[in-house]
Amino acid sequence: MTKTKELISIVIPCYNEEDVVNLCHTAITDVIGDLPYDFEIIYINDGSTDTTQELLEKIHAKDKRAIIINLSRNFGKEAAMTAGIDNATGNALIILDADLQDPPSLIPDIIKMWKDTGADVVYGQRIERKGETWFKKFTANGFYNVINFIAANVEIPKNTGDFRLMNRRSIDALVQLREKHRFMKGLFAWIGFKQVAFEYNREARVAGNTKWGYWKLWNLAMEGIAGFSTTPLRVASFCGLIISIASFMFGGFIIFRTMFFGVNIEGWASLSVMILFLSGIQLLSIGILGEYIGRIFGEAKKRPLYFIDTTHKMDK
Ligand code: UDP
Ligand code: MG
Repeated sequence: MTKTKELISIVIPCYNEEDVVNLCHTAITDVIGDLPYDFEIIYINDGSTDTTQELLEKIHAKDKRAIIINLSRNFGKEAAMTAGIDNATGNALIILDADLQDPPSLIPDIIKMWKDTGADVVYGQRIERKGETWFKKFTANGFYNVINFIAANVEIPKNTGDFRLMNRRSIDALVQLREKHRFMKGLFAWIGFKQVAFEYNREARVAGNTKWGYWKLWNLAMEGIAGFSTTPLRVASFCGLIISIASFMFGGFIIFRTMFFGVNIEGWASLSVMILFLSGIQLLSIGILGEYIGRIFGEAKKRPLYFIDTTHKMDK
């Protein structure tokens, strides 16, 4: 009796990737052909406005291992990945970017590492970031330091993206986290289990453009910080406390001086500096509060994370 092969799902979010989807599919099928596993390749078309959908459907017509999920609009990579993870039926899944930045040629090594170590998650860790500016590397590094310093309940590994293999029980854990504000790097770390790093060189995009501007990256950083830590709120209260104590002492000093040395009408400069400083701190604290209230608002609406327009599955 032949043992039935384990099924591995490959999840690929695609947003306006007409330049690369075919390359991507060929690269994947080239490496998985010889492996002793069954594969399903789940492409999530995240509301692309170019010909990505047609290209994907053509791929599906030729290769039944390709499953296409068309979302009803662009929901963002985090939601697109979630749609793929929700629909993966494999014993394990691998998340890849469509632009071949996470090289499909590493799939056999990752699976081998998963089998050898018995880990629940094998995550890709970049040794080198090709095709990225020093500014992006610098800000990315700063971000990891800040978030790991202030977020006490998770340790987010450095230089780690979404490229990873997860086994069934870690997938089942992740699927239970339905929060709307999805900082996936944080969620991946938060579930715990045995996670091991797989080092690789992150390639430059083969074609097409990155969808991440600096504004989006800033938002992602805020998402990570406000989603995994209440430290900013505590810093705000701490500043408030320090300033109140200082003001109290300064007030005492002014009363004392006025009583013993008479009224002194000078000092408008120090006054305006103080007013400006305090209003700055107040606005900042309100802003921080707002970040959290905005998140409560987002979660309270309990909207689904995405809607599926059409699905093209394997014919059983
Ligand atoms: N992506 C997506 N929805 C989006 C933005 C991006 O599904 O709204 C996909 C994109 O098609 C790619 C992956 O997420 O497969 C990574 O995107 P990109 O290469 O633009 O990001 P970078 O590699 O620069 O971080
Ligand atoms: Mg990319």
